[in-house]
This record gives sequence, structure tokens and C-alpha cells, in this order.
Amino acid sequence: MLAPTPSHLSPRLLVRLGAAPAGKEAAIREAAQLLVAAGCIDPAYEASMLRREAVANTYLGHGVVIPHGMVDDRHQVRESGLAVLQIPGGIEWHDGQTAHLVVAIAAQSDTHITVLRRLTRLIQDEARLSALRSTTHKEDIAAALTEDAAAPGASGPAADLRQRFEWVVDYPTGLHARPASQWVEAARACGARIQVRHGSEAADAKNLIALLQLGLRCGDEVTISAEGDDEAGALARICSVVTGLSAGEKAAARAAAEAAEKAAGPVAGWNPAERPQVIAGLGASPGLSIGPIHVLATAELVVPDEPEPLTRGGDRLHAALETTAGQLRALADDTERRLGKADAGIFKAQGELIADTDLITLACQLMVEGHGVAYAWNQAVERMAGQLSALGNPVLAARAADLRDVGRRVLAQIDPSLKSGHDLPDVPCILVAPDLAPSDTAGLDPARVIGLATAQGGPTSHTAILARTLGIPALVAGGPGLLALPNHATAILDGTTGRLYLDPSEADLASARAWSAKQREQAEAEARERALPAITGDGHRVAIGANVNNPEQVPLALDRGAEGVGLMRTEFLFLERGDTPSEDDQYETYSAMLKALGGRPLIVRTLDIGGDKQVAHLHLPREENPFLGVRGARLLLRRPDLMEPQLRALYRAARDHVPAGAPGGKDAPLSLMMPMITSVPEVVRLRAVCEGIRREIGAPEVPLGIMIEVPAAAIQADALARHCDFFSIGTNDLTQYALAIDRQNTELAAEADSLHPAVLRLIRMTCEGAARHGRFVGVCGGIAGDPFGACLLAGLGVDELSMTPRDLPGVKARLRASAMAELRALAARACAQEDAAAVRALDTASQGAGA
Ligand code: PEP
Ligand code: MG
Repeated sequence: MLAPTPSHLSPRLLVRLGAAPAGKEAAIREAAQLLVAAGCIDPAYEASMLRREAVANTYLGHGVVIPHGMVDDRHQVRESGLAVLQIPGGIEWHDGQTAHLVVAIAAQSDTHITVLRRLTRLIQDEARLSALRSTTHKEDIAAALTEDAAAPGASGPAADLRQRFEWVVDYPTGLHARPASQWVEAARACGARIQVRHGSEAADAKNLIALLQLGLRCGDEVTISAEGDDEAGALARICSVVTGLSAGEKAAARAAAEAAEKAAGPVAGWNPAERPQVIAGLGASPGLSIGPIHVLATAELVVPDEPEPLTRGGDRLHAALETTAGQLRALADDTERRLGKADAGIFKAQGELIADTDLITLACQLMVEGHGVAYAWNQAVERMAGQLSALGNPVLAARAADLRDVGRRVLAQIDPSLKSGHDLPDVPCILVAPDLAPSDTAGLDPARVIGLATAQGGPTSHTAILARTLGIPALVAGGPGLLALPNHATAILDGTTGRLYLDPSEADLASARAWSAKQREQAEAEARERALPAITGDGHRVAIGANVNNPEQVPLALDRGAEGVGLMRTEFLFLERGDTPSEDDQYETYSAMLKALGGRPLIVRTLDIGGDKQVAHLHLPREENPFLGVRGARLLLRRPDLMEPQLRALYRAARDHVPAGAPGGKDAPLSLMMPMITSVPEVVRLRAVCEGIRREIGAPEVPLGIMIEVPAAAIQADALARHCDFFSIGTNDLTQYALAIDRQNTELAAEADSLHPAVLRLIRMTCEGAARHGRFVGVCGGIAGDPFGACLLAGLGVDELSMTPRDLPGVKARLRASAMAELRALAARACAQEDAAAVRALDTASQGAGA
């Protein structure tokens, strides 16, 4: 055994040669016992190491494994230490992987990353590694784990270049990809060579991965030097970039710390007792789900090795890289406009990652060795990403996820058949993804996907709406950290509060299950009464509809207590397929809806394309601000080729489903409504088109309504009411336009609350305008499905509420337990509040008062 060195970078090193444990668990216990005996850890840390192994595979590569405890148990580490078991015969570690060197880590502070950096370099030295498997000298192993070899990715000599300056890293989260890519950008704009040195390691400042591999942390001292063309000017430019980023990095870290603090605090709803690690996003679809995580972005891809002539392979790689770089530039532009510079930086950094010379060189070396281009590229990405994630730094692990993500874009360009599919594991899982397109979400099977967590997105996005429709608890806007989570780790997802609890204790799992069971009991009690109408205690009936897009969902909606369909979003007929459905196809669908409803009311919304619902195959012109552009009714009026076949299909369906004994079709169960109306002339023109088509088809008259989704329509409700038969308020859009918050903006999603008093006042104006002409008012936005929101809407004078089927029983039960007079008073109080939080605070008060 070697004498310990005091530095935190040199933990106590305990080596046992010729070990022969019976298996993985025995190996971990044996290594842990060495650490216990040396006083490095509490005996309880052994269990923590075993727990970690149950949620993550600690196989590092090339026969090296690194068991270590859970982050939360770090207090059980008394002194940093490493226990190395040399197992010449090897033991099976995970899925056929054989371990020969078990390096058990008890790490305080930065030890972990230091050890891992040494190990990752060591595993690239196959000859030395193989010698260590059989050496009979402990010193050989000790030397390999204590000396700092030059990093293979960190090019350049450790000596500085001609001109230099010293700098102490003051970015609180160290040099992560976003600032690093700005360094690289600045360095590449200079003709001179620029080098960043930390201790004995140096990196070319024009190489992003080499810079990241320096693993610079806050407080590290670096020397930045330049030599060549205008070296003084180059150094001045790089210095201003390096130091200029400090303020922004500090502000970002403060914001993250505040968010984390908020995230750790108790929430209304289920709370864990043992404070597991938590990722906080925004609740998008309520309910708790417990299960293993499956990260979509890191799903395994099988890339076949199909060698081809080197020149052709080289050309294909070059073309794929160029196309991907173009895509990323477009993505960055788009993101910058929508979300701002900071978020756009993610894609700029991704662009830097694929331009990395080490990465491209490695791919080319593999091609030279005789491998196919797709295989070589994938291997290069995997190796680089493996190096980054092996450093044990979550920031770098997220960069590895970025590298894999962007690597897949390139792969899909090399070979379109390698586009990542959505292969799911056999067991039900919590699906984690960067974001999901509405059509991807629509295709999820709730039996296999029991929870959904996305890094991006907002709670009023269509993805969230669809998750609610499917009854899958979901959180959105969880941040990129989600994507670095290990697959298979058990988690608790709370879609009500938007939290994902990682690696929960048995006690927390049990309490979450108990909570779920209680919620289920309440839901069951509500469900038993779901068929009863929503009549308040003082006899006021609120009509209840479901938001359903296809006939197959109708039986479920009726079973949950819907009295009809209050919103059928027809754009999904276009979004879910790669082409435009014909008039006949549409007729079949509308007829099937009416048939499934058996005479109950159906409100169909004509195409609402644009904004967040872009239909690629229509090739519509790209707009600077799609939400403020040719959307909804504006598009319908400009594209008779889309509107007219749809209206013909709808009127044919109305004609063919007039109930027996209803002369003139006055009681036809079908109503039509137009999305995104802003003015009276739009309504007049649309009505004229409808009437022309109705006459041509010989169909009965059907009620023609409009959606109230923009403040202009709410404010002018009385004028609009003269020209239409009913209103349906789209609170998702009304909220976005009233509060000037893009419904897809993750950063502002928590503020986009439909219970904001300004939105409630617009709803009140809409009801007043409608009442002047005796028109009926529905609400089909997400807030209609919130029991408290439903109470407020009823109190404001809304006649009908339409929601995702799963919300029906709860809303009906809450309305039945209320009295209309109290709801009116509650709504008046809500409109008088100063902000949405104050409105929500009335919720407990209203329940207490029996409303
Ligand atoms: C709304 O805006 O509230 C609405 C129901 O329409 P969509 O969500 O489809 O835009
Ligand atoms: Mg809308």
C-alpha cells in the first residue's frame, strides 16, 4: 500500500492485487471494505455504492469500472480515497462487459473528476492497461492513477506561446460549452495560434473539445498565449471575450441556483420526505408516475459497417457535415429570434462540435482503417462523447449528449435510414426527450410510456395538450440536464408540479405510491359519478364537452362523461400524415365522428394551421413571427384550395347525419367554428363561403361559431356576436396574445397563466358581448379542464366547457359541489386581483367556502 499524499487531487490509494471476488456485488463490497478499513468512508457508504450500481452502470471501458456512491451520500465520505482491485481473471460486470480493474471511488470535492480524467487517458493506452491487469507491482497501478499524462485531445506543448496573459476562471460553472464555443469563435477569427494552458495541460483555443477536456473549473488559473499573425491583437481580442463573458456566466449561475432552490422547496401536492435529487420543469399533464427512465436522445443506434472506397466515403462525410452545419445555423437563427441569444448558443455550440478537427480526424482514421463512413462517424462521436461523459462532470456529460445529438443529425444525412427511431424498452417507462413533435406525442402508447419529461416545450404546447389527452403525466421545460440522465434509473415524475425525482428512496417510492392510490380513490369516486350532469347546487347547468380529434377517441370521452365534442382540431388530420387528406377522406372522418357521437353535439374547428402547427408538406412561406402571421382564419381565406374541400366534406357529413324527424336540419348535431378570428369582415367573408358551399351541397344550416383567441376579438365580442351563432374561447391562444408570451417559450411558460386577471377580464367581456345577442359561449382551451379554472369560467358566464377527456370527471364533480351564486362572486373577486398568483390563491379559499 502506498503512503497517502495530502493534496485533494491525490486521494488515498489502496491497491489489492490478484483479487478474485465471486461477482460484481462481492467486488464492490471488497473494495468498499478497503476504504472502510482505511477510514475513508462510513460503512454505510458500501450500500450507497451498491445502490448506485442498481441505477447506473459504472463500467468505464476497456475492463475498467468505477463503482462509487450516490451524490446524496457524499457526507459518508470522510476522506477521498481510491480502492483498486486488480482481478486478473476478470468478472462479469454488466451485459457481457468484463471488469479487470475495479477502481472504487470515495470522492470529496474535485477528486472524482481528476481520477476520471486519469482513467480516461489510461484506457486509451491499451498496452499499459493490459500490463496493469497482470502486474505484480502495486506501484505500477499507483503510478498510472497518480500521474497526469498529456491529454490526447489537448494538443500543443505545455510551454506557452510568445505573448500571454494569466486569468483565473471566474465562471461559476467553469468553462462549459457555451462560453467555450465563444472562445473558439473568437480564436478562429484570428490568424495567430492561441493556446490555453492549465498547469501542465494545454489546448488549442480553436478546438472546442480540447478546450472542454481541460475541465476548467471556477478558480482554476490559466495562461492564454498567442503567437503568429498580429499576436498582440489576437490576445487582446480573446482577452476581451474571455473576461467579457464573466458577468453573464455569473448571472446565469445565480438564476440557476435560485431555480434549484425553488425546485427543492415543498410544493402543493406530493412531497418526498428524503429530498432526492430533483429536476424541476413545468407541470404539463397531471399525475404521478413511477418507473425507469428512458432517454430518447441516447437510444442505441445500430450502425452497420459498410466499407466503401475512401474517396467516396470522404465526399459523403463532407456533404453530410456541410448540410448539418446549415441546419444548425438555421436552427440557431430561429431559436435566437424566438428564445434569444442564450438559447441559440446551444446550436452554435453544436455547430462547433461537429467542426472539431479531432472528431473529423478520428472519423477519417477509422475510414482509412477500412470502416464504412457511417460506422466510422458514429464510432468517432461515441468515443469523443464517451471521453466527455467519463470526466464525471455533469456539464461535460450534457455536452456529450449534445455531441451525440448532433452526431445523429450528421448520421441521418450520411444515411437517411439511420434517422433515430423511437424504439422503446419492453417495460413501461418514463420517456425523456429533448422535445416531441405533436405527432410523435400523439403516437405514444400510454401502456408503454407512463410518464413524459421534455427538456424544452411549454405547458400549453400541443405536446402537453396531447399528453393530457392521453392521460400521461408529463413535465416540460425540464432543461438539458434531463438528457444526461442514465437510462433505466428509477424516478418519480410528478406531472402536476412538474418535478422529476431521481433515485428516490424506498420510503419515498412507497409514499408516492400511497399518494397515487389516494388520488386514484378520489378520481374513482368522481368517476363513479361522471355520467351525472354538471348542475350546481343551486340548479345551474354547465354543458360539458370533450376535445377529441378522431372517432376512435369518442367512446372514451363519452365514457368519461362528455356530453358531446366541444372541439375537434382538424389540423391533426393534416399533421398526422405526409399529405393533404382528400375531401372524401375528410368526409369519412367527420361522418365517423358524428356516428360515434350518436346524435350528441359535435363542434368542428376548421383548419388552424400556422403558429405552432406547421404542416411541412404544405410548404407555406417561412414567416418571421408565425404566431402573428398567416394563421387560422387568415390562412383559410387565402387558401380556398384547403378551405373549400374541408367545408364541402363537413356539409356533406351534416347533410348525411340529419337526425330523423328534424326538418331543415335545425337540430343537426354538427356545428362549425373558425379559428383565430380578429375582425368582423373575416367572419362575414367566411360565412359567405360556408353559405355558398352549403347551398351547392344541399346541406342543412348548421350553427357557425368563431373562436375568441385574440384580445381584439374579446374586446369586440358584441360586434362579432351579431355575425355568428356562438363563441368558443381558446384560452391557450388568448393567454399568449393577451400576455404577449409565446405559448412555446419555455423561459416564460410559468408566467403564461390563463388565470391571469387580464385574461379573465377578456373572458368576461366576451361573455358580456355574447349575452347582448343571446349567443352561447364555450371555452375549449386548457384552463377549462382545471377544476378551479372551470369554476371561475362558469362564474364569468361561460355556458359550456370542453376539455381533454381525462379532466371531465374532476371538473364535473367540482361544479356539482359548487353554487352558482358563489361562483359568480368568486369570478368577480378573481377579476379584481392583481396577478395570477393572487387568483390561484383564491382556490383554497373557494374550497373552504364550499364553492
Ligand atoms: C386555444 O387556443 O385555446 C385552443 C383551444 O386552440 P389551440 O390550442 O388548438 O390553438
Ligand atoms: Mg388556439
